[in-house]
Amino acid sequence: MFRLHANDPLAPKAMNMLEESGLFEVTQEHLDKEELLKIIPDIEFLVVRSATKVTADILKAGTKLKVVGRAGVGLDNVDVSTAKELGIRVYNTPGANAISAAELTIGLLIALMRQIPRGTNGLKEGKWEKKKLKGHEIYGKTLGLIGFGAIGREVAKRALAFGMHVVAFDPYVENTDLDVELTKSVDDVLAKADVVSLHVPLTPRTLHILGEKEIEKMKDGAVIINAARGGVLDEQALYDALIAGKLAGAALDVFEVEPPVDELRRKLLGLPNVVATPHIGASTYEGQERVGIEMAKKLIEVAKE
Ligand code: NAD
Repeated sequence: MFRLHANDPLAPKAMNMLEESGLFEVTQEHLDKEELLKIIPDIEFLVVRSATKVTADILKAGTKLKVVGRAGVGLDNVDVSTAKELGIRVYNTPGANAISAAELTIGLLIALMRQIPRGTNGLKEGKWEKKKLKGHEIYGKTLGLIGFGAIGREVAKRALAFGMHVVAFDPYVENTDLDVELTKSVDDVLAKADVVSLHVPLTPRTLHILGEKEIEKMKDGAVIINAARGGVLDEQALYDALIAGKLAGAALDVFEVEPPVDELRRKLLGLPNVVATPHIGASTYEGQERVGIEMAKKLIEVAKE
């Protein structure tokens, strides 16, 4: 029996699969870093989602650690290179939450273009702001995707169904069956798009992939959506561009500081043309179940090796 600790919760079906496999002695509880460091020397399989930061010191203290399972796709919370050095295998669940993240992206886009949150808040305060809430159609607009992986493609399919034109840049994607124009550079996307949506992982190369210089190259009055990771968008540059009127709005599910309680993020969230959600892209019952089951299957497979 391997000792498996799920430091972030997995869907109940997935936890049952792990327990019923008979391969693991399972514990599930969110421990903070200090507490995790205390138990990690006895753990062989560590399972996390995005809340746990699997840093080098945790990995080094995990002298029996064989596997880190990241239920989800982004590996920015796991020190993958240290894990590799230590011979600890890292698995994620690519694609399993792509539909959830893509649906939220489209939801954010329409919420922003039609000012749905403002309409809701106004009504709840007893205000009938019909005249102030004239919006824009997304039909006929150009959506520019930076990153055309699992989520980018699901966003593209949905945007095409709404009658949008879609352009995308991804250095690792050369062709697609979808009616999407693949461009040669980020700049090509910036020049064409009315809406720029980010779908890249956070890595040293994608840090602030959309910053001051890039925003300058966007169309006047364009909008930005970030449901990828805080850090791929420079939020100071975004704030400045919104204040200057260069951009018409932004919709954000993720922030460089989470929760976004610092001064910059407070100011950003205070703008009327910013729509935001608290990092809920993957937070659906269906998505979490898919992610959890895929993770459980993978861990069972590895434990049987
Ligand atoms: P994916 O690996 O399928 O796709 C990412 C794509 O980005 C790849 O095709 C890759 O080639 C491309 N890419 C890498 N560097 C690039 C660059 N410099 N310029 C352009 N493209 C580049 O991953 P995915 O499932 O589509 O997820 C994308 C990201 O979305 C994840 O890494 C994660 O950080 C984020 N995400 C957020 C939520 C949320 O809750 N908001 C949920 C799921 C995923």
